[in-house]
Amino acid sequence: MREIPGAWRRTAIGAGLLDGHGRAAPTIFAEMSALAAHTGAINLGQGFPDEDGPSDVLDAARAAIAHGVNQYPPGLGMPALRHAIAAHQQRFYGLQVDPEREVLVTAGATEALAATILALVDGPDDEIVVFEPYYDAYAALVALAGARLVPVPLAWPTFQPDIEALGRAITDRTRLILVNDPHNPTGAVFSAEARAEIVRLADRHGAIIVTDEVYEHLVFDGSHVPLASLPGAAERTVSISSAGKTFSTTGWKIGWITAPAELVTAILSVKQFLTYVNGAPFQPAIAVGLALPDAFFTGAADALKAKAEQLGSGLRAAGFAVSRPAGSYFTVADADPFLGPDEDAADFCRALPARAGVVAIPLTAFVGTERSAQYRTLVRFAACKKPSVIAEASQRLATLAR
Ligand code: PMP
Ligand code: GLN
Repeated sequence: MREIPGAWRRTAIGAGLLDGHGRAAPTIFAEMSALAAHTGAINLGQGFPDEDGPSDVLDAARAAIAHGVNQYPPGLGMPALRHAIAAHQQRFYGLQVDPEREVLVTAGATEALAATILALVDGPDDEIVVFEPYYDAYAALVALAGARLVPVPLAWPTFQPDIEALGRAITDRTRLILVNDPHNPTGAVFSAEARAEIVRLADRHGAIIVTDEVYEHLVFDGSHVPLASLPGAAERTVSISSAGKTFSTTGWKIGWITAPAELVTAILSVKQFLTYVNGAPFQPAIAVGLALPDAFFTGAADALKAKAEQLGSGLRAAGFAVSRPAGSYFTVADADPFLGPDEDAADFCRALPARAGVVAIPLTAFVGTERSAQYRTLVRFAACKKPSVIAEASQRLATLAR
């Protein structure tokens, strides 16, 4: 195959998507979902729910299509959704944002991240601090923007940032600090100390904080604390979220940004040439979702907490050591007892459909290859599945021990 130069290659290398022959590989999520489909294994790999979200939200989308909401929405997003996002920030976090100037609707959190990184990175000397392991798109987007990724490791089993490592990573070269809390793939919720330190260092070094809060309503104990709500943070923070996880609508790809007006303008200038706009009938439906009563949001967190506990028990009974997630869809388990000599978690996950009829994802898929050693035995399992599915998966995993 001829080598294709340019941004494609940079992104593919950044995301680890080029194989040894210079060919592109699918993302780990696509690969593992295809493996599940092909083998009939239970898919605890890719994080998507196997049940529909609230009927009010689904009905609102159907009604919007029936009532002609089918053409391009405004570039910033439909007013009903922008107002609902602003009201949501006020209601849950006491944050005041102007729905006319400080809110931007995007094609999922993914486009929000892409437009933000492309808009705010200047060149190869800019550093973007991320917490490793990290969601796969981060490295790809940083590579596409031509900037440098600076990872801060999160160590098993608590996956909390090390404050000294944070201090070493954030310098005057830091352009963006990208914070995913609650965290994919580890299920960690950052400590108050880590949050405060991120804001302090961002201020000291003139860095912009970019948050990825797609799991904001899936915190198991207490409630989510957005970095923008810390003193002095809002003026330098781009907050990103998405409807996918909160309303079990991952295929709708409705996300959003809240940020100071000048940052929204910069990000919009890129976003308008990525997708321009998206999801017209889904936007008013998500506005309905964001205004649902508190019981919906606490119910979603409680239901996922119960599933994560069920999955954790099943994994422990099967013989894994398991971390205790504080939020998100995910639980990390140590597959060490099941590894043969020279095997790692990637080998284990490739063999797991045949060994036990379950699909999971190795943590090394979220780590730069040069630093993968400390994660080599760890596996991510998704808990966002029906209790009956988690029960069946647990029974299957129990056969590993025998
Ligand atoms: N960030 C994180 C941490 C995620 O887990 C995901 C995947 N759902 C995304 C971003 C992408 O979100 P969206 O589907 O809204 O683009
Ligand atoms: N966020 C989902 C996960 O981490 C997957 C999203 C995707 O496939 N890009 O499993």
